[in-house]
Amino acid sequence: MKRSLTLSRAQWEQMRDYVETQAPLEACGLLGGRNGHVEVVIPIRNAENSPVRFRMEPLEQLRAFEQIESAGMELLAIFHSHPHGPAVPSPTDIAEAYYQVIQVIWCPGEGEWLAHAFWIEAGHAAEVPLWITGV
Ligand SMILES: [Zn+2]
Repeated sequence: MKRSLTLSRAQWEQMRDYVETQAPLEACGLLGGRNGHVEVVIPIRNAENSPVRFRMEPLEQLRAFEQIESAGMELLAIFHSHPHGPAVPSPTDIAEAYYQVIQVIWCPGEGEWLAHAFWIEAGHAAEVPLWITGV
């Protein structure tokens, strides 16, 4: 699994618009693709309807996994938002990081939502590169 993520401007905006419309609740979803390059952004309903935690709606999550797999892609990342910060994974995020994939965290910055990518392993979160290319 590549420890960096590359996505297009349009994919970035798709995710940003989604987390923005879900605020003040946490929003979540999956990123599928190949070799670290995102090909699909799949928003998934937060079954917790909570401003401080998320749990992907199980059936939507299952369908998203099937969509990714049937297209021959791999699950590259899980994204979710922290409408009230912080810009890093919470202790709960670290404790509940069951999938060995990149975690993208969105939070409001100075007038604009920002995203950072992390690799979580052995109870520790390290920031990894998130590249935006093209349109
Ligand atoms: Zn979180």
